[in-house]
Amino acid sequence: MDYLSADSLPWLGGAQTQLRSALKSLRLPHSLLLLSAPGLGAELLVNWITALALCESVGDRPCGVCASCQLLRADSHPDSHYVRLEEDAQQIKVDQVRALIEALTLKSYRGGYKVGVIEGAESLNANGANAFLKTLEEPTADTMLILIARPSHRLPATIASRCLRMTLQPPAADVAVAWMKAHALAEPASAAKSSASDASWEAALALAGGAPLLALELDTAGVAALDADMRESLRLLADAAVDVTLLAERWMRANPGLRITWLEKWITQRVHAALGQGTSHQSAEPVRLPAALLKPKIRALFDLLDAARELRRLASTGMNQQLALEALLLGSRAALAK
Ligand SMILES: [Zn+2]
Repeated sequence: MDYLSADSLPWLGGAQTQLRSALKSLRLPHSLLLLSAPGLGAELLVNWITALALCESVGDRPCGVCASCQLLRADSHPDSHYVRLEEDAQQIKVDQVRALIEALTLKSYRGGYKVGVIEGAESLNANGANAFLKTLEEPTADTMLILIARPSHRLPATIASRCLRMTLQPPAADVAVAWMKAHALAEPASAAKSSASDASWEAALALAGGAPLLALELDTAGVAALDADMRESLRLLADAAVDVTLLAERWMRANPGLRITWLEKWITQRVHAALGQGTSHQSAEPVRLPAALLKPKIRALFDLLDAARELRRLASTGMNQQLALEALLLGSRAALAK
């Protein structure tokens, strides 16, 4: 388990400081709900928190050298338990949750903390969630349960209300770009990326919703090509010069997720411009006025934004998105009309 990389992500510093002082005052939370969009390093932070709780050094923790830290690094610490969605599964299985709870009720092997982590807690079904309610209500001593979930997903209130909540925010764009450039320089494999311009870093970052780790995975050259392709697609749509079914097929074949994200961002900018707000922060939500006050053009843009978000929601369920995308593209003609 990599628990030291969290130190190299500057936007995690606030959370680390908070947890360090909680540890000093012997008040580590029994249950922590960490809300984070993908690509912000939530998993690395949770590894670091695990190491913080399990490290046996009397000095700064995690020390990286004590027996506990070494066991963690080798993924063989008996008091660290990790649950995530199994491959090809739609939900975290209730058996996985039960096994975790059982492990956490046992005595600590090394006489210190026990840490249980559930990654992707939004994929718990009702039975899975109910299974560990008792654990949340009556935590055993020196036990820490950490749930990682997307901010947009709603966990049952019975669970969320019993956890200390922490939300990771994307860093400011300049901090993110500086970090991405430094990181690309340090990676020999991405020599091509390290020569990319600031503008292409910013484009990748915007497409990744401000999440630097996700943006780093995007090929900056590919981002520029996608950008050009999307603009051309929208121009053809506005001129009714393209078959919607064929266009939807083409989008679904190559980078559908990125295209929807691109479209959401593009629509948001149009809404801002139409409302006269300019383009403020990349993820800022446009102010939604009562429908009656909106010009038809803006209303059409909002409808399109809703459709794009619904499509993204569909994507996370694994359902067929082709028809929904065709409907969205048809509907977009109204919004695109001059
Ligand atoms: Zn240690």
